[in-house]
Amino acid sequence: MKPLNILLIVLDATRTDYCSCYGAVQPLTPALDQLAANGLLFERAYASAPWTLPAMSAILTGLYPTQTGVGEKRVLDPEHQTLASRLKASGYATFAISKNSWFSTEFGLPQGFDVFHKLWQLLQTDVDLTEVNLTQAYPAERNLLISAAKGAMRGNVLKNAVNLASRRIKLLNDSDYGARRTLAPVKKWISAQRTPWFAMVHYLEAHLEYKPPVAWARRFSDNWPLTQKLLAADQLRLCYRHITGVERLTPDELHAWRQLYAAEVAYQDHAMGQLLNWLKQSGYYDDTLIIVVADHGESMDEHGLLAHLYSLHEPLIHVPLVIHGPDIPCGRRTEALVQTQDIFGTVLAVAGAAMPPHARSLLDTNVDRRYVVAEYGAPRMPRQELLKRFDLQAEDFAPFLRGLTALRTKQHKLVVSTAGDVELFDLQNDPAELANQAERMPDALADLQAMHAEWQASVGASSIAPTTVVAPPTVTPEVAERLKALGYLD
Ligand SMILES: [Zn+2]
Repeated sequence: MKPLNILLIVLDATRTDYCSCYGAVQPLTPALDQLAANGLLFERAYASAPWTLPAMSAILTGLYPTQTGVGEKRVLDPEHQTLASRLKASGYATFAISKNSWFSTEFGLPQGFDVFHKLWQLLQTDVDLTEVNLTQAYPAERNLLISAAKGAMRGNVLKNAVNLASRRIKLLNDSDYGARRTLAPVKKWISAQRTPWFAMVHYLEAHLEYKPPVAWARRFSDNWPLTQKLLAADQLRLCYRHITGVERLTPDELHAWRQLYAAEVAYQDHAMGQLLNWLKQSGYYDDTLIIVVADHGESMDEHGLLAHLYSLHEPLIHVPLVIHGPDIPCGRRTEALVQTQDIFGTVLAVAGAAMPPHARSLLDTNVDRRYVVAEYGAPRMPRQELLKRFDLQAEDFAPFLRGLTALRTKQHKLVVSTAGDVELFDLQNDPAELANQAERMPDALADLQAMHAEWQASVGASSIAPTTVVAPPTVTPEVAERLKALGYLD
């Protein structure tokens, strides 16, 4: 039997409850809904981490962040063979396209991709200069400019010059995180393949900042002046000032904030729909395994939080997951409790590649887990320049600088922190996780703590979450600038 082609679509920061097939009130995601109507939808899929680097490294290795150390070290070491590397070794051609800068060579995730298309570049080169945006309100640092000037002289000088110029004159449209420019390179690469292929498409639209094309923003706005105000604002500044409690968004602003997010989710789904339609028209659809997943979710003021920071509450770790393809049940929904890192074993099994001992397939009959686990490594103190940009003090972040581990069963959730906090939530009676029941439910607490100890032993974790601070990898000023643009502060 001819091996299947495999398409893994990652929707960055996309919440389940903004997908219509998961119950969104508005029809935001017709493409995903249609895929789910003809495929297998997981009602209870959980990310292993609430932000891109550890969440994606779990999907690509099948390992928890604590097993690879990626949450603390901020780099996936090459000894962890990724899904792409394993498929490549099995004869697959491999391709990835991304606008998320955690998906840079510096952080290890692109390991094993024959072609890695960087949407932050207009012309593809090994020299990353394109986010050196000299026109933005916050002037580029001097070392960034010097590094960019040096970098521009490396490799193809002409391409580098075009990439720099494209930022200057905004050829890479700021109201589009790359969705519009995704289809063409994917089509081109897939069409050229003569062997089975694995393609990974990472959409960044639903990630802060929420600045969709104006027509999409208008469609979801019921207060256009306020929406326009948010579109023109420094949303990262609003986000961090809200989270720290220094300057909360008003209820009206939060309403408009959610509408902009909804517009991004809908626009992203529209882009994905164009890709799926092309697969149908080109005859690839029926012999391709298609997996759609969010790397993690997004907070919309639950617990006073925004973006995907400082928490392991449900909005951040419960994610959409749909699988479609030959031999996949049609229109089925499963309540099995699963981790998105099992996409690793699922793809290997479908590809007929060797399965390492830790790999599990989501298509096995015993897919239902007794519990799932998510980890949030301790964040670092934001850098001075960002504190200055947001008019915040270091102490504003004090409550957030701790690592978290969450263990969730179908009924309960245990959250422990490196600061010694223990929280227990009764998810059936308190889905919003508002009341800590740790003292009122000692039996459930003991059960969950036993499971937690069992999990720690199984993954070799020696503490509730790593407490040692490991120096982050040194990145070029260009990468640092791109991460800053995504709202990462440290
Ligand atoms: Zn992400």
